[in-house]
Amino acid sequence: APEAGHAGHGRILAVANQKGGVGKTTTAINLATALAAAGKRCLVVDLDPQGNASTGFGVDRNARQVSSYQVMLDQAPLGEAITATEVPGLDLVPATVDLSAVEVELVDDPRRNYRLRDAFQSCETVYDHVLIDCPPSLGLLTVNALVAAHAVMVPLQCEFFALEGLSMLLRTVERVRRTLNPMLEMQGIVLTMYDRRNKLSEQVEADVRSFMGDRVFETVIPRNVRISEAPSHGKPVLLYDVRCAGSQAYASLAGELLKRGRSLADVA
Ligand code: ADP
Ligand code: MG
Repeated sequence: APEAGHAGHGRILAVANQKGGVGKTTTAINLATALAAAGKRCLVVDLDPQGNASTGFGVDRNARQVSSYQVMLDQAPLGEAITATEVPGLDLVPATVDLSAVEVELVDDPRRNYRLRDAFQSCETVYDHVLIDCPPSLGLLTVNALVAAHAVMVPLQCEFFALEGLSMLLRTVERVRRTLNPMLEMQGIVLTMYDRRNKLSEQVEADVRSFMGDRVFETVIPRNVRISEAPSHGKPVLLYDVRCAGSQAYASLAGELLKRGRSLADVA
Protein backbone atom coordinates (compact mmCIF):
# COMPACT_ATOMS: atom_id res chain seq x y z
CA ALA A 1 0.00 0.00 0.00
CA PRO A 2 1.33 3.46 -0.86
CA GLU A 3 0.95 4.72 2.72
CA ALA A 4 3.23 2.02 4.05
CA GLY A 5 6.28 3.65 2.53
CA HIS A 6 5.53 6.84 4.37
CA ALA A 7 5.18 5.30 7.79
CA GLY A 8 7.29 6.87 10.49
CA HIS A 9 8.19 9.99 8.57
CA GLY A 10 5.50 12.40 9.62
CA ARG A 11 4.05 14.28 6.74
CA ILE A 12 6.09 14.70 3.59
CA LEU A 13 5.31 17.80 1.53
CA ALA A 14 6.69 18.49 -1.93
CA VAL A 15 7.09 22.25 -2.43
CA ALA A 16 6.67 22.43 -6.18
CA ASN A 17 6.10 24.77 -9.08
CA GLN A 18 7.78 24.37 -12.48
CA LYS A 19 8.39 28.11 -12.60
CA GLY A 20 11.60 29.48 -11.09
CA GLY A 21 11.67 32.44 -8.74
CA VAL A 22 8.16 31.99 -7.34
CA GLY A 23 9.20 31.37 -3.74
CA LYS A 24 9.59 27.57 -3.48
CA THR A 25 12.90 27.65 -1.67
CA THR A 26 11.92 30.62 0.47
CA THR A 27 8.74 28.80 1.46
CA ALA A 28 10.50 25.50 2.17
CA ILE A 29 13.10 27.22 4.37
CA ASN A 30 10.80 29.54 6.25
CA LEU A 31 7.75 27.33 6.63
CA ALA A 32 10.04 24.62 8.04
CA THR A 33 11.66 27.15 10.38
CA ALA A 34 8.27 28.37 11.58
CA LEU A 35 7.12 24.78 12.15
CA ALA A 36 10.32 24.07 14.09
CA ALA A 37 9.71 27.21 16.16
CA ALA A 38 6.29 25.74 16.97
CA GLY A 39 8.05 22.67 18.38
CA LYS A 40 7.76 20.38 15.36
CA ARG A 41 10.76 18.37 14.21
CA CYS A 42 11.44 19.20 10.58
CA LEU A 43 13.58 18.02 7.71
CA VAL A 44 14.15 20.02 4.54
CA VAL A 45 15.31 18.00 1.55
CA ASP A 46 17.09 20.17 -0.99
CA LEU A 47 16.24 18.59 -4.34
CA ASP A 48 17.38 21.48 -6.54
CA PRO A 49 20.87 21.26 -8.13
CA GLN A 50 21.20 24.99 -7.46
CA GLY A 51 21.30 24.17 -3.75
CA ASN A 52 19.60 27.40 -2.72
CA ALA A 53 17.95 25.85 0.32
CA SER A 54 21.35 24.58 1.49
CA THR A 55 22.90 28.02 1.03
CA GLY A 56 19.88 29.65 2.65
CA PHE A 57 20.50 27.62 5.81
CA GLY A 58 24.16 28.59 5.76
CA VAL A 59 25.32 25.01 5.06
CA ASP A 60 28.54 25.54 3.12
CA ARG A 61 29.99 23.38 0.37
CA ASN A 62 32.28 21.24 2.52
CA ALA A 63 29.32 20.27 4.73
CA ARG A 64 27.65 18.79 1.64
CA GLN A 65 29.86 15.70 1.26
CA VAL A 66 26.82 13.47 1.38
CA SER A 67 23.92 15.09 -0.42
CA SER A 68 20.61 14.41 -2.10
CA TYR A 69 22.60 13.28 -5.17
CA GLN A 70 23.99 10.21 -3.38
CA VAL A 71 20.57 9.52 -1.89
CA MET A 72 18.95 9.60 -5.33
CA LEU A 73 21.59 7.25 -6.75
CA ASP A 74 21.39 4.93 -3.71
CA GLN A 75 25.05 5.56 -2.97
CA ALA A 76 24.21 6.60 0.59
CA PRO A 77 21.26 6.05 2.90
CA LEU A 78 19.10 9.10 3.58
CA GLY A 79 20.22 9.16 7.20
CA GLU A 80 23.84 9.74 6.19
CA ALA A 81 22.92 12.81 4.17
CA ILE A 82 21.09 14.50 7.04
CA THR A 83 22.93 17.43 8.55
CA ALA A 84 21.92 19.77 11.37
CA THR A 85 21.14 23.44 10.76
CA GLU A 86 21.39 26.46 13.03
CA VAL A 87 17.65 26.14 13.66
CA PRO A 88 16.90 23.90 16.65
CA GLY A 89 14.82 20.90 15.59
CA LEU A 90 15.43 21.48 11.90
CA ASP A 91 17.71 19.28 9.78
CA LEU A 92 18.66 19.41 6.12
CA VAL A 93 19.58 17.06 3.32
CA PRO A 94 21.79 19.37 1.25
CA ALA A 95 22.12 19.49 -2.52
CA THR A 96 25.05 20.01 -4.83
CA VAL A 97 25.26 20.70 -8.53
CA ASP A 98 25.91 16.95 -9.14
CA LEU A 99 22.17 16.54 -8.79
CA SER A 100 21.71 17.98 -12.27
CA ALA A 101 23.15 14.73 -13.72
CA VAL A 102 20.66 12.45 -11.98
CA GLU A 103 18.08 12.63 -14.76
CA VAL A 104 20.58 11.29 -17.30
CA GLU A 105 22.22 8.83 -14.92
CA LEU A 106 18.89 7.18 -14.08
CA VAL A 107 17.50 7.14 -17.59
CA ASP A 108 17.61 3.32 -17.83
CA ASP A 109 16.57 2.65 -14.26
CA PRO A 110 13.06 1.14 -14.06
CA ARG A 111 12.68 2.54 -10.50
CA ARG A 112 13.90 6.02 -11.40
CA ASN A 113 10.61 7.64 -10.34
CA TYR A 114 10.69 5.91 -6.94
CA ARG A 115 14.27 6.68 -5.87
CA LEU A 116 13.39 9.22 -3.19
CA ARG A 117 10.47 7.21 -1.86
CA ASP A 118 12.69 4.12 -1.68
CA ALA A 119 15.26 6.15 0.26
CA PHE A 120 12.62 7.20 2.80
CA GLN A 121 11.34 3.64 3.05
CA SER A 122 14.72 2.25 3.95
CA CYS A 123 15.46 4.85 6.63
CA GLU A 124 13.70 5.59 9.89
CA THR A 125 13.45 9.25 10.79
CA VAL A 126 12.02 11.25 13.67
CA TYR A 127 10.41 14.16 11.84
CA ASP A 128 6.91 15.56 12.13
CA HIS A 129 7.25 17.38 8.81
CA VAL A 130 9.47 16.82 5.79
CA LEU A 131 9.57 19.56 3.16
CA ILE A 132 11.10 18.80 -0.23
CA ASP A 133 12.37 21.84 -2.10
CA CYS A 134 11.86 21.02 -5.79
CA PRO A 135 13.75 22.40 -8.79
CA PRO A 136 11.96 24.67 -11.29
CA SER A 137 10.84 21.93 -13.69
CA LEU A 138 8.46 19.01 -13.85
CA GLY A 139 11.29 16.59 -14.61
CA LEU A 140 12.54 13.51 -12.81
CA LEU A 141 13.50 15.26 -9.56
CA THR A 142 10.10 16.86 -9.08
CA VAL A 143 8.38 13.60 -10.02
CA ASN A 144 10.47 11.83 -7.36
CA ALA A 145 9.34 14.42 -4.82
CA LEU A 146 5.69 13.99 -5.82
CA VAL A 147 6.00 10.21 -5.56
CA ALA A 148 7.64 10.36 -2.12
CA ALA A 149 5.22 12.96 -0.76
CA HIS A 150 1.89 12.80 1.00
CA ALA A 151 0.91 16.14 -0.44
CA VAL A 152 2.03 19.01 -2.60
CA MET A 153 2.38 22.61 -1.53
CA VAL A 154 2.40 25.16 -4.36
CA PRO A 155 3.89 28.63 -3.95
CA LEU A 156 2.29 30.89 -6.52
CA GLN A 157 3.51 34.33 -7.42
CA CYS A 158 0.74 36.82 -8.10
CA GLU A 159 1.53 37.65 -11.71
CA PHE A 160 -0.20 37.62 -15.06
CA PHE A 161 0.38 34.00 -16.18
CA ALA A 162 0.06 32.46 -12.71
CA LEU A 163 -3.12 30.53 -13.46
CA GLU A 164 -1.80 29.01 -16.69
CA GLY A 165 1.27 27.71 -14.92
CA LEU A 166 -0.92 26.40 -12.13
CA SER A 167 -3.14 24.39 -14.52
CA MET A 168 -0.08 22.72 -15.97
CA LEU A 169 1.23 21.85 -12.53
CA LEU A 170 -2.15 20.48 -11.45
CA ARG A 171 -2.25 18.26 -14.54
CA THR A 172 1.13 16.82 -13.58
CA VAL A 173 0.00 16.27 -10.01
CA GLU A 174 -3.10 14.51 -11.32
CA ARG A 175 -1.01 12.32 -13.63
CA VAL A 176 1.32 11.33 -10.79
CA ARG A 177 -1.71 10.54 -8.68
CA ARG A 178 -3.20 8.29 -11.36
CA THR A 179 0.00 6.44 -12.07
CA LEU A 180 2.71 6.60 -9.42
CA ASN A 181 1.29 7.84 -6.09
CA PRO A 182 -2.50 7.45 -5.62
CA MET A 183 -2.25 8.94 -2.10
CA LEU A 184 -0.91 12.30 -3.27
CA GLU A 185 -3.00 15.20 -1.96
CA MET A 186 -3.07 18.91 -2.64
CA GLN A 187 -1.95 20.54 0.59
CA GLY A 188 -2.57 23.97 -0.75
CA ILE A 189 -1.50 26.97 -2.73
CA VAL A 190 0.28 29.83 -1.03
CA LEU A 191 0.35 33.24 -2.68
CA THR A 192 3.84 34.71 -2.52
CA MET A 193 5.53 38.06 -3.13
CA TYR A 194 2.19 39.75 -2.75
CA ASP A 195 2.24 43.49 -3.29
CA ARG A 196 -0.74 45.29 -1.82
CA ARG A 197 -0.06 48.43 -3.82
CA ASN A 198 -0.26 46.50 -7.06
CA LYS A 199 -3.72 46.07 -8.58
CA LEU A 200 -2.54 42.99 -10.46
CA SER A 201 -1.71 41.16 -7.22
CA GLU A 202 -5.27 41.73 -6.06
CA GLN A 203 -6.77 40.59 -9.36
CA VAL A 204 -4.66 37.44 -9.50
CA GLU A 205 -5.51 36.65 -5.89
CA ALA A 206 -9.23 36.96 -6.65
CA ASP A 207 -8.90 34.72 -9.73
CA VAL A 208 -6.87 32.06 -7.94
CA ARG A 209 -9.27 32.01 -5.00
CA SER A 210 -12.34 31.68 -7.21
CA PHE A 211 -10.66 28.95 -9.28
CA MET A 212 -9.12 26.98 -6.38
CA GLY A 213 -11.41 27.81 -3.46
CA ASP A 214 -10.22 26.72 -0.03
CA ARG A 215 -7.15 25.04 -1.46
CA VAL A 216 -5.60 28.51 -1.27
CA PHE A 217 -4.16 29.37 2.13
CA GLU A 218 -5.66 32.44 3.77
CA THR A 219 -2.18 33.56 4.68
CA VAL A 220 -0.56 35.57 1.92
CA ILE A 221 3.22 36.10 1.89
CA PRO A 222 3.97 39.76 1.20
CA ARG A 223 6.87 41.01 -0.87
CA ASN A 224 9.31 41.85 1.89
CA VAL A 225 12.89 43.02 1.60
CA ARG A 226 13.98 41.16 4.76
CA ILE A 227 12.95 37.87 3.13
CA SER A 228 15.19 38.60 0.16
CA GLU A 229 18.12 39.69 2.37
CA ALA A 230 18.08 36.70 4.72
CA PRO A 231 19.60 34.05 2.34
CA SER A 232 22.79 36.07 1.85
CA HIS A 233 23.27 35.85 5.63
CA GLY A 234 22.70 32.08 5.51
CA LYS A 235 19.67 32.39 7.75
CA PRO A 236 15.94 31.83 7.50
CA VAL A 237 14.14 35.16 7.74
CA LEU A 238 12.70 34.10 11.11
CA LEU A 239 16.27 34.03 12.49
CA TYR A 240 17.37 37.12 10.59
CA ASP A 241 14.51 39.42 11.62
CA VAL A 242 11.71 37.76 13.53
CA ARG A 243 9.59 40.91 13.66
CA CYS A 244 9.43 41.71 9.96
CA ALA A 245 6.24 41.19 7.96
CA GLY A 246 7.80 38.25 6.08
CA SER A 247 8.59 36.34 9.28
CA GLN A 248 5.14 37.01 10.66
CA ALA A 249 3.56 35.75 7.44
CA TYR A 250 5.50 32.47 7.51
CA ALA A 251 4.63 31.98 11.17
CA SER A 252 0.99 32.48 10.27
CA LEU A 253 1.28 30.03 7.35
CA ALA A 254 2.71 27.40 9.71
CA GLY A 255 -0.14 28.01 12.14
CA GLU A 256 -2.67 27.60 9.37
CA LEU A 257 -1.01 24.40 8.15
CA LEU A 258 -1.06 22.92 11.64
CA LYS A 259 -4.65 23.98 12.23
CA ARG A 260 -5.94 22.65 8.94
CA GLY A 261 -4.25 19.33 9.49
CA ARG A 262 -3.97 16.89 6.68
CA SER A 263 -5.05 18.68 3.55
CA LEU A 264 -7.29 21.41 2.33
CA ALA A 265 -9.02 19.23 -0.22
CA ASP A 266 -8.32 16.66 -2.85
CA VAL A 267 -6.83 17.54 -6.17
CA ALA A 268 -9.54 18.74 -8.55
P1 ADP B 1 12.22 29.51 -6.28
O1 ADP B 1 12.78 28.56 -5.28
O2 ADP B 1 10.80 29.22 -6.65
O3 ADP B 1 13.09 29.63 -7.50
P2 ADP B 1 12.98 31.55 -4.40
O4 ADP B 1 12.34 31.16 -3.11
O5 ADP B 1 14.44 31.25 -4.54
O6 ADP B 1 12.17 30.97 -5.62
O7 ADP B 1 12.72 33.11 -4.58
C1 ADP B 1 13.25 33.81 -5.72
C2 ADP B 1 13.87 35.12 -5.25
O8 ADP B 1 12.86 35.95 -4.69
C3 ADP B 1 14.91 34.95 -4.16
O9 ADP B 1 15.92 35.90 -4.36
C4 ADP B 1 14.15 35.22 -2.88
O10 ADP B 1 14.99 35.73 -1.86
C5 ADP B 1 13.15 36.26 -3.33
N1 ADP B 1 11.90 36.19 -2.59
C6 ADP B 1 11.13 35.09 -2.36
N2 ADP B 1 10.03 35.39 -1.66
C7 ADP B 1 10.09 36.74 -1.42
C8 ADP B 1 9.24 37.67 -0.77
N3 ADP B 1 8.10 37.29 -0.19
N4 ADP B 1 9.62 38.97 -0.73
C9 ADP B 1 10.77 39.38 -1.32
N5 ADP B 1 11.60 38.55 -1.95
C10 ADP B 1 11.28 37.25 -2.02
MG1 MG C 1 14.41 27.27 -5.46
